[in-house]
Amino acid sequence: MQKVIQLKGLDCAHCAAQLESEIAKIDGVQFASVSFINQKLTIDYADEQALEKAVYLVNHFEEVSVVQERTENVKDGGRYAIDAVSHTKQWAFIAVSIVCFICGLVFEKWINNAVVFYIFYTLSYISAGLPVLKATVKNISKGKVFDENFLMTVASIGALCIGEISEGVAVMLLYQMGEILQSIAVQSSRNSVAELMDLKSEFATVLTSSSINEQRQVKPEEIAVGDLLLVKTGEKIPVDGILLSVNATLDTKALTGEPEYKQVPIGEKLLSGCINAGAVIKMQATKAYSDSAVSRILDMVENAASKKAKPEKFITKFAKIYTPIVCLAALAIAVFAPLIEGLIVAHTLRFIHFTRWLKTALTFLVISCPCALIISVPLTYFSGIGVAAKQGILVKGATYLDALATANTFAFDKTGTLTQGNFAICQVLPVNEQMDEQTLLKITAAVERNSAHPIARAFQHVKTAFKTGNVQEQAGLGLSCEIDGETVLVGSFEYLKENGVSLQPLQSIYTVIYVAKAGQYLGAIELGDKLREQTKPALEGLKSLGITQTVMLTGDNENRAIQIANEIGMYALNANLLPDEKLEKAEQLKQNGVLVYVGDGINDAPVMATADVSVSMGKLGSAAAVEASDLVLIADDLTALPKAVKIARKTRAIVKQNIVFSIIMKAAFMTLGVAGVLPLSLAVFADVGVMLIAVANSFRVKKTACVFKENVL
Ligand code: ADP
Ligand code: MG
Repeated sequence: MQKVIQLKGLDCAHCAAQLESEIAKIDGVQFASVSFINQKLTIDYADEQALEKAVYLVNHFEEVSVVQERTENVKDGGRYAIDAVSHTKQWAFIAVSIVCFICGLVFEKWINNAVVFYIFYTLSYISAGLPVLKATVKNISKGKVFDENFLMTVASIGALCIGEISEGVAVMLLYQMGEILQSIAVQSSRNSVAELMDLKSEFATVLTSSSINEQRQVKPEEIAVGDLLLVKTGEKIPVDGILLSVNATLDTKALTGEPEYKQVPIGEKLLSGCINAGAVIKMQATKAYSDSAVSRILDMVENAASKKAKPEKFITKFAKIYTPIVCLAALAIAVFAPLIEGLIVAHTLRFIHFTRWLKTALTFLVISCPCALIISVPLTYFSGIGVAAKQGILVKGATYLDALATANTFAFDKTGTLTQGNFAICQVLPVNEQMDEQTLLKITAAVERNSAHPIARAFQHVKTAFKTGNVQEQAGLGLSCEIDGETVLVGSFEYLKENGVSLQPLQSIYTVIYVAKAGQYLGAIELGDKLREQTKPALEGLKSLGITQTVMLTGDNENRAIQIANEIGMYALNANLLPDEKLEKAEQLKQNGVLVYVGDGINDAPVMATADVSVSMGKLGSAAAVEASDLVLIADDLTALPKAVKIARKTRAIVKQNIVFSIIMKAAFMTLGVAGVLPLSLAVFADVGVMLIAVANSFRVKKTACVFKENVL
């Protein structure tokens, strides 16, 4: 069972990692992921007891508590606004602390009044550090050491004890300032997701009768399937539905990132989240809010943070060993360094320069906090996911974004992915004179009534009186059923052959389906399916990013596949593939590196599951594919794919930069610390500085998309 639990009061990344590992240790918990950015716990558990234990743990962890639980699949449509934390009070304390600190400094250096400067320093220390001191005491009482609060408390008190009063106060003051700045940065990141949440309508207007005058305003969650709705100019479509008014002009910007006006004719599907840019429209709800596009999109984006990328997992592990090691090093420096110096210089068992080494040890404590990494890395992924969402690309986890950045092979399904999946009947070719075109067409149409394949839609408008029974569909092959007591087969060449029908393949540049009755071949039908307009630019976009390994995997005939491949510049193709052969091929491709598979979800669910990253088309693709894939192109726009790659690469590059930068800086500070040239307050300043630079760097992901729109494509 899986649950997503909204938390509050979780405002330190280090604690989030700690909470996560503690929950994961509970018996019966199979998976736990805590995202400190969205303040969410995603948990897979075996029994209620495990869940209860987890909730208990959360409620007793620092200041954290559970806001509301919600089962992943039972959507109540409720969404939680993450409270904006006001920093005014914290800033006020910091301001008081700064003023007191300056006064203290003045009295210490120039006026030389010991009593007064002690008082000022004490005030400054307490006003900045009280929350830290409190948290330390609370944590120690629970047997938890080694968190940031503890480190800062020890470092500052240590400094005070060796007479470095101003240093000690400065440690606390700078640390707290860094904390607030970090919290602001995280909040601004949360806000960018809140902007996305702008997709949702505040309210919807339900018509209680067919007259426009009887209206009722309800929340989108209260709309029932079948309700008549009125959407005024400038309002958003609240739930998915069909258009009842004559024509509508919709702006799909919110869903796809591109301002695009689309004309929708009467009777067509309306996607929630689009803005009505034309006159007032009437529509009928075909889905409840929780099943509508908007709700699904928001759910996916919100839950994306639970699937952590490798570098994210790496830093959590790194932090776990890094902090204790540096703390131990600090202890060793405080005890052994002066002792060894004593042995070498004075040849006795005496501490030499004890205070100087103690200071070095304290500096170590200050820089033992891996904040810069632990905050900036998830923040970068989070920003990357947000940027992608704004471009109409849903990424369901940081891990997929990461895989996409390194992907070298892109495999595509043909029908419905590279092509529109709107088949038109081109030619009906009966095998001989005994069969006429109309009968062949009507038999086929009757069979296709039973299929949801895009091919079947081509026969929608063919009138037929044939009755079918005992229907069996073989995904990626065709259908068999009974008409007038005889078995009829409609499908690919392979399908008929497999079933013992003797026939010759047709040389055609179209998609061909073959028909047989009672083992006798009746004829074939050629179907035309146009390429999507965006297919070629999408492949060119990928090429411009250095991705040349593009492969088409199709169950359709080779002629058609070659024709398309030539037209769009596809690197390789594999035609006539049976569904299990598609899977085999995908497994082979995977051996060359990271494989991305783009499909419409019809007949290719197993391939989707095999690929490192699966991409589905949001609109056309089946709902199941959208659920099962890792990336969704909301507007069915393949050109979003190179955009996604670009965003993914930028995200990964920034993550790498932050990791390398932070580690180098830490190493540099340690060296300076050991050399004794780094004052304690400067160590904190530098540490906070590195964290802020890393966080600021993570925000650069947001810039990419804007610049890049003109650059590529
Ligand atoms: P692609 O791999 O290009 O997406 P599919 O796997 O959906 O194509 O289908 C492969 C082939 O199987 C089609 O070209 C067609 O010959 C046959 N086929 C699949 N479903 C049907 C159907 N409902 N009716 C007729 N033929 C079908
Ligand atoms: Mg397909």
